Amino acid sequence: MSGEDLNVVGAAALVLVRDDGGPRRGRAQGEVEILTDGAVAIRSGRIVAAGPTDEVLRAAGPAPTLDARGRTVLPGLVESHTHPLFGGDRHHEYAEKLSGTVPRDPTAPRGIGAAVLHTREADDGALLSDAARAYARLLRGGATTVEVKTGYGQSTRQELRALDLLHRSRATTPQSLVLTFLGAHVVPPEAADAESYAGLVRDEMLPAVVEQGIADLHDLVCERGVFDEGVAAELLDASRKAGLPARVHADANAASRGWATAVAGGAIAADHLTYTPDSEIREVGTTSTVAVLLPVAEQLYLDERRANARLFIDEGVPVALATDYCSALHPTSTLLSLALGTSWFRMTPAEAIVATTLNAAYACARGHDRGSIDLGKRGDLTIVDCPHPNEICVSMGTAPLGAVVIEGRVVLGGSA
Ligand SMILES: [Zn+2]
Repeated sequence: MSGEDLNVVGAAALVLVRDDGGPRRGRAQGEVEILTDGAVAIRSGRIVAAGPTDEVLRAAGPAPTLDARGRTVLPGLVESHTHPLFGGDRHHEYAEKLSGTVPRDPTAPRGIGAAVLHTREADDGALLSDAARAYARLLRGGATTVEVKTGYGQSTRQELRALDLLHRSRATTPQSLVLTFLGAHVVPPEAADAESYAGLVRDEMLPAVVEQGIADLHDLVCERGVFDEGVAAELLDASRKAGLPARVHADANAASRGWATAVAGGAIAADHLTYTPDSEIREVGTTSTVAVLLPVAEQLYLDERRANARLFIDEGVPVALATDYCSALHPTSTLLSLALGTSWFRMTPAEAIVATTLNAAYACARGHDRGSIDLGKRGDLTIVDCPHPNEICVSMGTAPLGAVVIEGRVVLGGSA
């Protein structure tokens, strides 16, 4: 599907995130150029010019025009961590945790295990319409690309079904979806133990997923008490042999050697990292593996600590920020994640912008064609109704969305 032609002109702030051929790390994560009276020209869905409005119009010529006066124009935000396909409700778990009350039936399944049971029972139509509603909200949260994981099937048949449904869900949104197979998410009730279930993921599910040909990425959990570092290393090895780029849910609940295991296993990203010890971050040092941090998840899980974003950046690790929309948590604003990068993690606004654009794209193996304002990349833009990107942070992500452009199409909002 080829895109359209569009000139976005007169931006109060055009935020030029640039791609140097990889995720931005260290000091470079905080380097973005902000241009006043900026413009972007898109032809057939691709960026062909960006810079001062008069120069861009001279170079690219006339086209349908979107007036961005008074607004901030960002590269299209990339939402790099969601699990949108699930059945059932889990909001009561949060309320119970806060009030300290015991669940009415303490033997009833809780957590991810409960979501697995409800997802298996849910019909396709209900799962698709819930996912479509989530995409619509994520679009209003500024995301032009969304990474979507399975993880609530946890059997070969159910995981293939989930990937098929995620593929079909593309028809419900203009957003670009990156599909991730998350086999080793939790040990399902019918499995004897973690090792035997991980063996099933490695020997049966992963080959079946490759055969199906829908998944773009392979994700797995490395967490003490779920899948340990030895199991995770084996799955990462299998992923490499299968040719699927891998990601790891790491150190979300406890220090589990998840970060070191992900980097050693060649993962393109590791997510959560709330409990990764400072000593492990220093030991691992500079990486091309992206650390995907989840500020809303840390707050709603009522965590004892937060990921050490500052140390990751100082050690030369590219950092991304994401919502973690899933069965337990329903944040849908990537603009909120961007803002929380500053208040929760003490990142600079520029670092947080890179974390929700270019580095997020690389965390989804999509850095080559999106996430920055570079010639030849997809014409995806997130336009916010405020005159400077700092306003996104000081409004805690509530500065209104002005427009969303995907491959040159205005899919939400319009001219100022
Ligand atoms: Zn997750």
